[in-house]
Amino acid sequence: MKKKNTILFLGISSIIILIAAQVLIIKGIIKTTSEMLPLRYRSLSIEARETIRGSRSVDPFDTVKFLLNQYSTIVAFELPEITDEQELTEKKKEILEYFSGVLIMEEDFSNFLSAYYESQGFEKDFNHRIEIQNLDIISQDTFHIYRNENFRDRRTRGRGGLDSPEREARSSVFTFGYQEEGNYYSLNFRYIIDFSDKRKLILQESATSLVMSIFSIVVVVLLFMVTYRNLMEEQRLSNLKTDFINNMTHELKTPLATITVAGKTLEMEMIRRDESRVLETAKLIGKQSIHLNQLINMILEISMWERTQFQLDKKPVDVGEVMNDIVSSFKSGPGSIASLNQKYNFNGAKADIDLIYFTTMINNLLTNAVKYSDKEPVINVEGFADDKNIFIKVADNGIGISKLDQKHVFDKFYRASGGNIHKYKGLGLGLYYVKKIAVEHGGDVTVSSKPGKGSIFTVNIPYK
Ligand code: ADP
Repeated sequence: MKKKNTILFLGISSIIILIAAQVLIIKGIIKTTSEMLPLRYRSLSIEARETIRGSRSVDPFDTVKFLLNQYSTIVAFELPEITDEQELTEKKKEILEYFSGVLIMEEDFSNFLSAYYESQGFEKDFNHRIEIQNLDIISQDTFHIYRNENFRDRRTRGRGGLDSPEREARSSVFTFGYQEEGNYYSLNFRYIIDFSDKRKLILQESATSLVMSIFSIVVVVLLFMVTYRNLMEEQRLSNLKTDFINNMTHELKTPLATITVAGKTLEMEMIRRDESRVLETAKLIGKQSIHLNQLINMILEISMWERTQFQLDKKPVDVGEVMNDIVSSFKSGPGSIASLNQKYNFNGAKADIDLIYFTTMINNLLTNAVKYSDKEPVINVEGFADDKNIFIKVADNGIGISKLDQKHVFDKFYRASGGNIHKYKGLGLGLYYVKKIAVEHGGDVTVSSKPGKGSIFTVNIPYK
């Protein structure tokens, strides 16, 4: 019990540690993935722009640049002419709107970017927008048209600058910046990519590690469960074997001790002179020798089954007649102390049966019905048939079997543990034998029982 708990405790603890470790690893992977994502999309986007430049010998913003150059040439001459402050503000607003409008018209680059992402195995669906950071019109003077509060020029920030990964990860936005210098303008803008479901994107990226982690946890848990079950089963069998050896020693010792005592008695001259006592002792020795022989045969037979195939010599027999014979001879032998009722309705069914094994099977059930009784045994034997099987029920009013023991009573060497184990002698083989014989006949045996009320064993054997 202690060993069992220790193994359980160690097993469950290591599984918990494993799961915790895996959770930490996954968290780490997700964190790294989400930090790497903006960097990866940014370098992909720069790659895409370079590819367009390389393959088409044009910059994706060439059209935009052309339009802005034309427009800025005009406004560069208009702006120094404006003296009215109000008018200047209006003009600046108009210029900003024009620049924004032209930049928004850009579609080419986004479509190419989407196709490029897809070709590299990345997410192709994204929203984008372009945000002007700084716009100056350069004439004799420099006219500041617009400047974003957060904008820092290239001397501090660098061309194509990128927000810090942490900020990117939180905002779910990936950006890269551009600086365009026209003849009469200087423009900084940010191309902003926004994935609506960034969490999904990160999960997709870490899917392999996630699946492998979950898989490894499931395998370890299964492995532990199987090993634990095997270990417990082994322990149970080993306990059963120890019990069996103890029981067997006890069973064998009893007749052996009687024979030894009887032999010693016969050595006594006083006894030898009394012929009736000699006869009585000899009979006792004979009876105990038979019992001993039976026990040894039973053990030998069981071990024979283990090594060789179980060979039945089946013949078609009238089940009703056979049952009558078996129960009658039981009544006149060990069943004489029981009140035994029988009721058969086999409809003349003839089943293929090995008579010797079948008799042993029914006898074992009847013997147990008498043996496991704490009052005068009342045994009801019932037999009937449906269109495929014959059924034989042996019901007693004995001590009954607990639900837990019912699961194991047909196991080899199993003896119910309910306190009475030494009161009722046995080797735990009788019901194992019953089950084996029923199964070898193509049938089965079941038990239903209530502790203190009695038990019903039902054998079924196919006959068609
Ligand atoms: P054994 O009788 O040698 O112990 P069996 O295989 O015949 O072995 O039975 C296994 C166990 O099932 C017994 O130890 C007993 O506890 C329980 N058992 C069997 N038959 C009955 C019965 N008719 N009533 C109550 N308990 C029974």
